[in-house]
Amino acid sequence: MNALPSAACLNTKQTPYYYYDTQLLHRTLDAIKRETDKHAHFEVHYALKANAHPQLLQQISQAGFGADCVSGGEITAALKAGFPANKIVFAGVGKRDDEIRLALQQHIFCFHVESLEELEVVNALAAQEQQVARVALRINPNVGAHTHAHITTGLSENKFGIPLTQMNTAIDACSRLEHITLIGLHFHIGSQITDMSDFVSECQRINELQTELNQHDIHLRYINVGGGLGVNYDDPDGGAIPDFQAYFDTFAQHLHYTKEQTIHFELGRSVVAQCGSLISKVLYIKEGEHKKFCIIDAGMTELLRPALYQAHHKIENRSSQGALETYDVVGPICESSDVMAQGVLLPSCHRGDILAIRSAGAYGESMASQYNGRPLVQGYLSNDFSLEERKI
Ligand SMILES: *Cc1c(COP(=O)(O)O)cnc(C)c1O
Repeated sequence: MNALPSAACLNTKQTPYYYYDTQLLHRTLDAIKRETDKHAHFEVHYALKANAHPQLLQQISQAGFGADCVSGGEITAALKAGFPANKIVFAGVGKRDDEIRLALQQHIFCFHVESLEELEVVNALAAQEQQVARVALRINPNVGAHTHAHITTGLSENKFGIPLTQMNTAIDACSRLEHITLIGLHFHIGSQITDMSDFVSECQRINELQTELNQHDIHLRYINVGGGLGVNYDDPDGGAIPDFQAYFDTFAQHLHYTKEQTIHFELGRSVVAQCGSLISKVLYIKEGEHKKFCIIDAGMTELLRPALYQAHHKIENRSSQGALETYDVVGPICESSDVMAQGVLLPSCHRGDILAIRSAGAYGESMASQYNGRPLVQGYLSNDFSLEERKI
């Protein structure tokens, strides 16, 4: 099954741009719902930072998901896309006062507080708004994840969350501060996790903490286990839909919870990565001394992941079935790190060929920049192409 239309169709829009396969997005959302429907206590928030394209957001909100936001801008985007305020959670180590105020005024569901000082600030701002803010403590569980070092978040050396050793102090602070009410705990150990044993470790740590809290007669109704489920970057078509069954079953099996509790998930990458491709055109082929460069019109300004953390994306030449050759596929940006992929085999590339950089729906468009004076990359949904265009 091939998710992408022909090169001629893709060439009807100015490259570079993102192409989003809405059918695949819907199949992915359905797969998530099928699994969560099996577990009465599970609720999923979509992590907007993976991709906040307004039309994608609308479709995700219409499917009934909540939203996980990390800035005031994301809260505004979530509300605009139709996510109900009472399904919005707000995380981040550095929330500004105006962002906290916005969240209070919009009556979002919960603040995920990441430091003792932030607790005091949320309390003070909630007092000014004459509110009692719902908060969950984001605990740094000191659980490693077998993923790239730049995308682990749950180790004590990472900046995220309240250290385990300060959890009790934070809980005491919550009972002292009158304008916040502690409803739960939040965790997030990292991203692009494909080894379910990492999530088992996370569950075990949460179980330990809950046992300890219960001994002190503290019972919290809200447990948020974060996101992080990985996708198959090597096989975007074969692995189009991540293994949500294995993921949710892991938590159902290993996390201890009561009938009074709800378990929340914050999925980003696994929802949108596979439905997006970065569409780019070959500008030049350059014979280097030792290698051949395929210079394309998309670079780190459109897709930062390869330059930022050596991420691997499958690249396809949609215009050619010629003999395979080895290329370094590079962008036009004036940085040596502006390399999409090194030493990849592609059907012989020529100026004007359309390349698709696959599995780019997550952390692609949302990380785009205007460096080198470039316009911000556009994103199109499959239904933005007319029927005539889709036939060519
Ligand atoms: C980024 C992030 C997520 C989403 O992570 P994915 O790996 O894209 O699923 C969820 N929760 C928090 C707190 C995050 O920072």
